[in-house]
Amino acid sequence: MSDDSLNRRGFVDLCARGGAALGLLAMPGSQRIAESVATLPFQRVGNVSQHPALFWHVKEGKETVCDLCPSACVIQPGERGTCGVRENINGRYTSMIYARPCEIRADDMEKGPFYHFLPATKTLAMGFAGCNLDCKYCQSASFAKARPEATDNKTLSPQGLVKQLVKYGYKSITFTYSEPMQAIEYVLDVASLARQAGIRVLVHTCAHFCQEPFETLCQYVDAVNIDLKGFTEQFYKSVTGGSLKPVLDNIIRARKFPHLWLELTNMVVPGYNDKKSVFADMCRWIITNCGADTPLHVSKFFPSYKFRNVPPTANDTLKALRKIAFQEGMRYVYLGNMPGDPGESTYCPKCGIKIISRVGYDVKFNQFDSHTGVCTKCGYQVPGVWA
Ligand code: SF4
Ligand code: SF4
Repeated sequence: MSDDSLNRRGFVDLCARGGAALGLLAMPGSQRIAESVATLPFQRVGNVSQHPALFWHVKEGKETVCDLCPSACVIQPGERGTCGVRENINGRYTSMIYARPCEIRADDMEKGPFYHFLPATKTLAMGFAGCNLDCKYCQSASFAKARPEATDNKTLSPQGLVKQLVKYGYKSITFTYSEPMQAIEYVLDVASLARQAGIRVLVHTCAHFCQEPFETLCQYVDAVNIDLKGFTEQFYKSVTGGSLKPVLDNIIRARKFPHLWLELTNMVVPGYNDKKSVFADMCRWIITNCGADTPLHVSKFFPSYKFRNVPPTANDTLKALRKIAFQEGMRYVYLGNMPGDPGESTYCPKCGIKIISRVGYDVKFNQFDSHTGVCTKCGYQVPGVWA
């Protein structure tokens, strides 16, 4: 193990413990914030922020309307939106999770999942309390569906975070696990500083947000993985509590940013979104609107949250769907949560050889220039961000 990896691990351990060493990274005035939070109408515990929110407007008097997601919550003073992390404090709309991540880990880039973006590198991955959707299979429900007072939040300013990323040699940070857009004020501040420091910023999002905040996010970050959870309004309504159209609109918007790398994830839940004809429709839509080169991760579902009685997706179902995606013309289709399956690897669309071999998060390159993304057997340029 190199000194560098020890250092990285040490940094992440400190983050995970919310240790004293990170005290020096606390936002200036954090004590003042804690005191003022304590004076609010209902009792609070835990480490929450009171940071000015973006994307809202006043409706009447001190009543605010949140413009972040299609729910458009109308919020009275002292109340919060349905995501539980944005609050009207006497007519001022605030984020309670600014600089308050509850999950910080050193992840393999492939966990994102991001397969065509700096493969085989480490990324600092971060998550927050709260989410605007309520997916019945949520695997992060312990914090995504929790109030921020109930999660174990660290205090980590954008400046302090980027300083640590530089110090320990991280090339990227990934906002993931729950819904990063809920912490958009923090994500934008980190992204702005990270860009100056040459650190890439990645986001895994449900994309169930309004146009202005979503396009603002796209301007600041380097890559997004968008969950295209299903391809019918019925699925979105009954399983996620959201709707399909805003997600499709945002995928199209993301594709229009030339600097932004896009990957998509579709988790297949047996009996809910595993119909082959609908999956084929989805692939055709992706090809038309995003291009056949867009990587698609077709992921295996495991019972969780409100779907504990739904069986895991059969491997044969996932393999059949992957085959359909290729038949429709997609070039990079991957099976997720199936470690060891050939569907995890990348094959050159021109000569057919396996160029990136993956077993879980273990990555090996074969006749592939990982700095340029070129298949060295036939010279084919594989799209992605390689260096
Ligand atoms: S982000 Fe939260 S508060 Fe804002 S509209 Fe959506 S659910 Fe409501
Ligand atoms: S969007 Fe993600 S974090 Fe939010 S409820 Fe759905 S699965 Fe959970």
